[in-house]
Amino acid sequence: MTFQAPKGVSEYVPPRSALFEEAREAFANSARRACYGAMETAVFEDTALFVRGVGESSDVVRKEMYSFEDRGGREITLRPEFTAGVLRSVLENNLHKGALPVKVWTAGPAFRYERPQAGRYRQFYQFDLEAIGTQDPAVDAETIAVGYDAYTALGLRQFTLLLNSLGDPKCRPAYREALQNFLRGLGLDAETRERIELNPLRVLDDKRPEVRDQTANAPVMMDYLCAECKAHHDTVRGLLAGLGIPFTDAPRLVRGLDYYTRTTYEFDHALLGAQSGIGGGGRYDGLSEDIGGPPLPGIGFAVGLDRAVLAIESERALAPGEPARRNAGCQVFGVPLGEDTHRSMLTLVTALRRAGVRADMAFGARGLKGAMKAADRSGAAFAALIGGQERDHGTVRMKDLANGEQHDVPAAEAAAWLIERVLR
Ligand code: AMP
Repeated sequence: MTFQAPKGVSEYVPPRSALFEEAREAFANSARRACYGAMETAVFEDTALFVRGVGESSDVVRKEMYSFEDRGGREITLRPEFTAGVLRSVLENNLHKGALPVKVWTAGPAFRYERPQAGRYRQFYQFDLEAIGTQDPAVDAETIAVGYDAYTALGLRQFTLLLNSLGDPKCRPAYREALQNFLRGLGLDAETRERIELNPLRVLDDKRPEVRDQTANAPVMMDYLCAECKAHHDTVRGLLAGLGIPFTDAPRLVRGLDYYTRTTYEFDHALLGAQSGIGGGGRYDGLSEDIGGPPLPGIGFAVGLDRAVLAIESERALAPGEPARRNAGCQVFGVPLGEDTHRSMLTLVTALRRAGVRADMAFGARGLKGAMKAADRSGAAFAALIGGQERDHGTVRMKDLANGEQHDVPAAEAAAWLIERVLR
């Protein structure tokens, strides 16, 4: 019997995994340049953290969590999102008692029991970034810029930044009530009517055309923002314009998690069809108190790395699975032929690796034809051959795989010869 991964698990194997690494690194580099520190946090947490943090009325908590009782009788949930756990860890480690804001990033798998489809999985991957401890609108713009610059560095162009404000506990209740009154007057189905009472903002997110039509003229938060929230939002918009970051005002944008306040945003990709959200985030000024911490405003975003990979593939118009960048492969491929050549070849490739060259070699008793095929497939610029003749003469035969040119180089100079050509 053979096994398969459980339904809905997203996995990456070579060569496509190079694209995944590239996406994660682009975000990590962008975060490092803005002086965000790396964190590794719990993949599973007390269930109550998500119930209180993400919110009892959210779909994530009501329908999508992987929850179980562990052998010690604890209620445990695999993280469905990062923010609640990152904030929990920041508080537990007292980072908020040092310099503010606490600026951190992390990445890894998240888990939601959803209906699997293209771009939607039960185990998926996020890059997450958080700035905790300030209400300064400049940090809102900073987080957006870190995300925007990473997408851009990946070569993505066909995405849009959707921007909205969800207000705060001062102005949102009046809006919520106005929205509920509007929605109660529509002819919506029983489940949606239930949602009006529980989480009315989410009704605006309903993708069904018959619901969209009916809610087209629903009141929007933008018209209910208090003076402080309005000023905050205008400042963020001005800062983004100053940074040359294009955005679209999206007064109907709401997010799936309940903790958002004020600035909320989503990056949407034009070529991904139904699962077009490639990342999203916003402020969560009340979340710390919701999970038992001190008042501590924060903002952050999560990028769906699976969807970033799909977006890169669609924009580069590559067939899925084709290696996207040549430099993910190796630069030199060693071909040892016959007795007593593996040891000198391993010495050569190790010297190259220590100098920073990506080098591989043929293992096992492979003939010339098979080993050269492996060299071609590796993407290397040069093959380095040591056969019986080279061994006896103390040389290495270099073959330029682009044009077929060959050179015999003394073994003692082989590493330097290759380094000079590959790392130049
Ligand atoms: P959220 O935590 O819901 O704000 O999601 C942030 C980003 O994670 C989204 O924009 C998606 O790109 C990605 N994402 C969320 N859920 C899934 C899923 N089930 N499968 C793949 N990506 C997801």
